[in-house]
Amino acid sequence: MAKRLSHYLDRVNRVHLLIMTILLLVCIGLEYYLNLALGITGAYAHLFYVPLFIAAFWWGFWGGLSVGIFLALIHLTSYLPDISQLVLAESLAFALVGSATGVIGSERIRAERKLRQAYDEEVKLRRDLQAEMERRVEFTRALVHELKTPLTPVLASSELLIEELRREPFLSLARNINRGALSLNEKIDELLDLARGEIGMLRLKLKQIDPSPLLRSIADEISSLVASQGQSLILDLSEPLPSVTVDENRLRQVILNLLNNACKFTPEGGTIVLRTKRRGTRLAIEVEDTGPGIPLEEQQLIFEPYYRARSGQIYSGGLGLGLPLCKTLVELHGGQMWVKSQENKGSVFGLSLPL
Ligand code: ADP
Repeated sequence: MAKRLSHYLDRVNRVHLLIMTILLLVCIGLEYYLNLALGITGAYAHLFYVPLFIAAFWWGFWGGLSVGIFLALIHLTSYLPDISQLVLAESLAFALVGSATGVIGSERIRAERKLRQAYDEEVKLRRDLQAEMERRVEFTRALVHELKTPLTPVLASSELLIEELRREPFLSLARNINRGALSLNEKIDELLDLARGEIGMLRLKLKQIDPSPLLRSIADEISSLVASQGQSLILDLSEPLPSVTVDENRLRQVILNLLNNACKFTPEGGTIVLRTKRRGTRLAIEVEDTGPGIPLEEQQLIFEPYYRARSGQIYSGGLGLGLPLCKTLVELHGGQMWVKSQENKGSVFGLSLPL
């Protein structure tokens, strides 16, 4: 009880409480001095409305009502035992006026509280924005690091190339430069695509195609990487496949991204499957691997930009842009992306395209 009272008192402005106590003491003084000592009745009681209105203004309905009842009791008891109808009516008026003006006071308090809430929300928003900006700065730092990594062989090779310009063989040096520059180019493109996708500026060049040749050529393209890592790739196409209306380059980009991730995470001797399934009015394309899998709580987060899962920490590279970009591209086609994964067993990344 004492705890609740002290909690309540903490919320009440102490200065207001002090002023109200003084005003009520003045009222009691008036009542007892003028009425009981000097026998003056009536008119001074109108002064009681001053603390009444103030209490209603500060504390709303309950403040107005309690001060009203308090003043009514003071007024009534000072006339005991002969309480006239006028005194009774005046006492009742204190309680009624106190609660009526209190209702208006409560409205004011509610409006003030709403305003304060809006202000607090604004402060929180500003704090969130600040945190988001800090996250962006952190991301830019990682980005700079990421862009510089493929640039290192370009710089080293080109420096060597300058030194060895007149001597053979130049071929492997030239290849290094080319590989580094291509990787850099891809990463910058990915970043730009994602930024465009976020503000709805990414456009597709749609065309009706037979997906089989596309999937076969993608499997061909990745086969040397798969072989070099001691993994095997299985192409499981439920042919004949229906034609789909897609941006061929973008679909290639998405599937290659999923296959590259699968290669990255599958251990030597593991298997990667590129599979198609017809699901009603949709064509599903899946990439399955026998990698470390992704914990359930991270499975949706990996589609958020800049998120890197625990599995990704095995590798120092990566900005967490690949999957969000794949998702954006698939959704632009009117399709969906998903992941099914079990830790220590592997993952299946899938996408569906409308037919
Ligand atoms: P990045 O571009 O950094 O590789 P992605 O968006 O492609 O990022 O992937 C996000 C995270 O999802 C990665 O950090 C990685 O941990 C996880 N991930 C993606 N594909 C796989 C996979 N096949 N197996 C396990 N984890 C994966």
